[in-house]
Amino acid sequence: MTERGTPTLTGNRGLQIEEPLIFEQGHPDKTGVDLPDPPDLPDRLGGLARTGPIGLSGLSEPEVVRHYTRLSQKNYAIDAGFYPLGSCTMKHNPRLNERMARLPGFADLHPFQPQSTVQGALAVMHRLSEWLLGLTGMEAVALSPAAGAHGELCGMQAIRAALDARGAGDRRVVLVPDSAHGTNPATAALCGFKVRGVPGDDRGRVDLAAFREALDDQVAGVMLTNPNTCGLFENDIMALATAVHEAGAYFYLDGANFNALVGRVKIADLGVDAMHINLHKTFSTPHGGGGPGAGPTVLSPALAPFAPLPHVVAEADGGYRLIERVEGDMQPFGRMKGFHGQFGVFVRALSYLMSMGADGLRQASGDAVLNANYLLARLSETLTPSFEGPCMHEALFDDRFLKGTGVSTLDFAKAMIDEGVHPMTMYFPLVVHGAMLMEPTETESRDSLDAFCDAVLALADKARSGDAAFFTEAPRHTPRRRLDETRAARHPVLRWEPPEPAKAAE
Ligand SMILES: *Cc1c(COP(=O)(O)O)cnc(C)c1O
Repeated sequence: MTERGTPTLTGNRGLQIEEPLIFEQGHPDKTGVDLPDPPDLPDRLGGLARTGPIGLSGLSEPEVVRHYTRLSQKNYAIDAGFYPLGSCTMKHNPRLNERMARLPGFADLHPFQPQSTVQGALAVMHRLSEWLLGLTGMEAVALSPAAGAHGELCGMQAIRAALDARGAGDRRVVLVPDSAHGTNPATAALCGFKVRGVPGDDRGRVDLAAFREALDDQVAGVMLTNPNTCGLFENDIMALATAVHEAGAYFYLDGANFNALVGRVKIADLGVDAMHINLHKTFSTPHGGGGPGAGPTVLSPALAPFAPLPHVVAEADGGYRLIERVEGDMQPFGRMKGFHGQFGVFVRALSYLMSMGADGLRQASGDAVLNANYLLARLSETLTPSFEGPCMHEALFDDRFLKGTGVSTLDFAKAMIDEGVHPMTMYFPLVVHGAMLMEPTETESRDSLDAFCDAVLALADKARSGDAAFFTEAPRHTPRRRLDETRAARHPVLRWEPPEPAKAAE
């Protein structure tokens, strides 16, 4: 299955050029630069100098440029088309925010500069903190966490510190509902807590009765994702929060899906003690390429004293100061990382917040939910939605509509690629069978949503017409077809070895 669909004489497909490894392209005896011969210097390496060739491939500048440009063109990206990955909020990031982050006054700063020379940067951090506190109604914010999961770690460490401070450090259990994001139990375990699962009900929400039953005096806190991984609002969230607090525990909310709530819900009103915000999802930092991101964590009055260092404060004289050491009655649990966090991401987020304005943010979350419900409504014609009723920012389907067709969720996704449509998130969340989770975000037009729905509905009809091979043989039009993922994971080839004759010549 790994060979390409229709063979060409060259192995290329149109102007999509087959790309060998850079080592396979050059010749060790070629070079792209012309350096003068080294002067005759005495050998001070004690006989350790290499005598054999180093085996780097020699290429000219245009060969190198073409290699990396062609590789970059093999990446699908939000700039290339609709990217419906559920749970990821792959939305367009306005270029204005990139421009702001690249201003030399921001981009050329060094974290060791004296504070008097970086007052503007501290003002950015302070303003961003004010926006995040304004949008959530919370007491304090730690900007430094570098990702969503890192923000979870920050919030859970604050909970630990608060428990220790009141002599309740023996509470070791964290409740994690089935509908929570996978990073939640991982974070709880990393902090040394025992994870106790809580089942969902048939509406895709936490089972309130089971939740109440799971609460006891061993529970340190709960980690809830809202909107949850089924794209649904946890309607009982206030009752959950009350029950958690009555049990003497803390309420952590995974706020990575804040894009669905901004400007509509004050997080503090829900009884939340800690929540991270993914700036790289909701607040306009490109992501999906491994970073950098930022996961600021907002804290309630109960947890604020334990916030990690550093933070920025406004001074009476109009200046700003970065607090790096304990002052007054602060009891920080520590630091999350070196320096102050991902500053470039802060600039993008503040630029986004200020250019959108409060009204624009409110509209964005409304449009995100509207777009997801548009997908849900149109695709429900043929696909099987997992739960009844409207969704929040993402629409969840399962594979019941494929029953008896011989086509799996994976096959369906591969056929989408052939049609020029990037697949949705598959097989997540785990609570439904063969999940297909689609998040359109507010930045897609009705035309792009319709083009996506037309393609998905056409494929669904094709699958139900009995043409399973069309799916099981997909993708036909990609540079590589299906890979042996198990073998790749079990026997990864991480190192290029020269072909045999060249080895012998070394
Ligand atoms: C993306 C996401 C996370 C993790 O964020 P990272 O920045 O990838 O660490 C956590 N929870 C939810 C619900 C998410 O969608």
